[in-house]
Amino acid sequence: MVEAVQIPVERIKDSKLPQVDFKNLGFGKYFSDHMLEADYVNGEWSSVKIRPYQQLGFLPALSVLHYSQTIFEGQKAHKDENGNIHIFRPHENWKRMNRSAERMAMPQVPEEIFIDGMKQLIELDKNFIPSGYDESLYIRPFLFASEETLGVKEANSYKFLIITGPVGSYFSAPARIYVEETFTRAAPGGTGAAKTGGNYAASLLSSAEAKKQGYDQVLWMDAIEHKYVQEVGAMNIFFIIGDKIITPDLTDGTILGGITRLSLIEMFKDAGHEVEERKISIDEIIDAYKNGQLKEVFGAGTAATISHVKELKYKDFVMELDVDSMTISADMKKNF
Ligand code: PMP
Repeated sequence: MVEAVQIPVERIKDSKLPQVDFKNLGFGKYFSDHMLEADYVNGEWSSVKIRPYQQLGFLPALSVLHYSQTIFEGQKAHKDENGNIHIFRPHENWKRMNRSAERMAMPQVPEEIFIDGMKQLIELDKNFIPSGYDESLYIRPFLFASEETLGVKEANSYKFLIITGPVGSYFSAPARIYVEETFTRAAPGGTGAAKTGGNYAASLLSSAEAKKQGYDQVLWMDAIEHKYVQEVGAMNIFFIIGDKIITPDLTDGTILGGITRLSLIEMFKDAGHEVEERKISIDEIIDAYKNGQLKEVFGAGTAATISHVKELKYKDFVMELDVDSMTISADMKKNF
């Protein structure tokens, strides 16, 4: 890997590598030895450094704790059989982070910090990259308002960090999902397309309720008509109806544009499939199910790659799907 800019490194004294149970990685449980850190103060980025993963000091008035001006990314790196490191489409995440930053009135993160810094950090902690099937190094860049103030305004100081850690598969078992009718995730003009903490905080009550009812996740509906489906938890949603692959379009700014979604659309088209990005209503899905045309339903995201849906519930109507026959998406999953 070529490193464009060398960022100063303070190395950890005792690596935490021996504490990692590589046979039982889970998700978000282990963190690599180092983190990248940079500060943005009064219009300028400074003090970019890599140092041991550790506590951050802050005072109670830290503005992000009050007004949630915070954004993040989620990405993965793998090692191939020759030991070369591959980060999955990092420029797409960099661009998305900067789109989120714009929406949240936050500064743009320069490429030298996001991309070059990430490469340097991962090279340093490369022994944390697991090599098993479905395992990877999860990368979490994030930016938050670090000013100490209770004033409601965009902050004048921000902190950017990248932390990483080895992960196993997020959930690979076929999912049971219900369509959320009461709460909504995002409305036009809101922050749905930004990867910002508040979107996730607002989703937790619904996911907790889904779990109580024996479901894994909820499928969000549009906030105006409660008719069109949007996305699921941390995944975009795809339907194969007849021979068409359909996924909700991104035009009204309510859905997070996934990098997995983008890649899948490109790969399905390359493989000769017809892909439609458009509004899709729950009635269309139910009709397709009743007519035997709903062939495959799956979520797509970095953590989950492709997650098949075996049950989809809307009001009292339960659609049961045969995951073993979902061959188009199962074939595609092998690429991730
Ligand atoms: N939607 C939401 C709300 C998400 O959090 C994610 C995960 N980042 C996705 C979709 C999928 O995006 P990606 O494929 O880039 O992981």
